[in-house]
Amino acid sequence: MIIMKTEATTDQVAGVVKEIKKRGFRADVSKGAFKTVIGIIGDERGIDFAQLENLPGVKEVLRIETPYKLISREYNRLSETDQKPFSIKIGNIEIGVKEPIYIAGPCSVESHEQLFRIAESVKQVGAHILRGGIFKPRSSVHSFQGLGAAGREEAVEALTWLRDAGKKFGMPVVTEVRGEAQVDLVAEYVDILQIGARNMYDQDLLTKAASKGKPILFKRHFGASIEEFLSFSEYIAAEGNKDIILCERGIVPVGKGKSFTRYTLDLGAVPAIQKETFLPVMVDPSHAAGRRDLIFNMSCAAIAAGASALMIEVHYNPSEALVDGQQAITPEELKNTISACNQISKLLTPLRK
Ligand code: PEP
Ligand code: MN
Repeated sequence: MIIMKTEATTDQVAGVVKEIKKRGFRADVSKGAFKTVIGIIGDERGIDFAQLENLPGVKEVLRIETPYKLISREYNRLSETDQKPFSIKIGNIEIGVKEPIYIAGPCSVESHEQLFRIAESVKQVGAHILRGGIFKPRSSVHSFQGLGAAGREEAVEALTWLRDAGKKFGMPVVTEVRGEAQVDLVAEYVDILQIGARNMYDQDLLTKAASKGKPILFKRHFGASIEEFLSFSEYIAAEGNKDIILCERGIVPVGKGKSFTRYTLDLGAVPAIQKETFLPVMVDPSHAAGRRDLIFNMSCAAIAAGASALMIEVHYNPSEALVDGQQAITPEELKNTISACNQISKLLTPLRK
């Protein structure tokens, strides 16, 4: 990490970046109001820091050991960009500063009619962003894999519906990219790329998705520690894309008996991650609970824990849903959930600092 002098010129910053590149590394330039800090991307062990310290415009050089330095509060504090809250803008929606943002929609896009009906209803009750899976991660090859699995034409059709539903009802849209090969196509249609829990460790997918320059909704793997989750987020940041929304969605339950939830929602992760990074943290209570009767309470708890956004699966007739019907709530239930969450947020926001 190279801290530039307050009076360092643009040319001096460029000179340092050039020196870093000459040594075979990439550089992340973080420009604060008064100071510029340059992060080195790669295995820094072979770098002679004393040499860099002597370059014109350099104030000091620090070795930061954390594996997620580019997204760390520490790095941003050094460049003083940490002074203002960081938020991610998607159209006129902002995640990370104001009121909670609600992402809602079906687990999976099933038909034009299903998607448009759900989109209209979630918008009506206060959702900001529309979700809908087209390439579904499934445990069994014999289950419905999402409309995208049928072929490129079918994927394009479903992506077009998603884009159009978002346009019609005034919501940005998000869908999952399950593999590198889907990234180019999906990025043409959606506003946010989702990387699912199962793919948190796929660094090639992370790099490819990040390179599109669109916000990434990044889910924690159900077996990953917070440190691993943040370390893999760094692969996205290393591409120069810091529009990363970190999503807690539950980790594997412990013990042998019944857990009564699909996964264990780790709500401590929300404030803990917020201490480490400036990135917004959101919660998906649907995949954590795996049952609709818990969504209201878990959503309220997530907002109380400080989540900036929630993602909730919704269907007008959950028993009809091809995937995850047991955890989908109705638009009416979403309305109550949003109303309660907004009240909790209003109550707690002024008390937080
Ligand atoms: C999803 O959001 O559609 C999904 C499959 O979630 P996860 O990756 O958390 O299981
Ligand atoms: Mn689902």
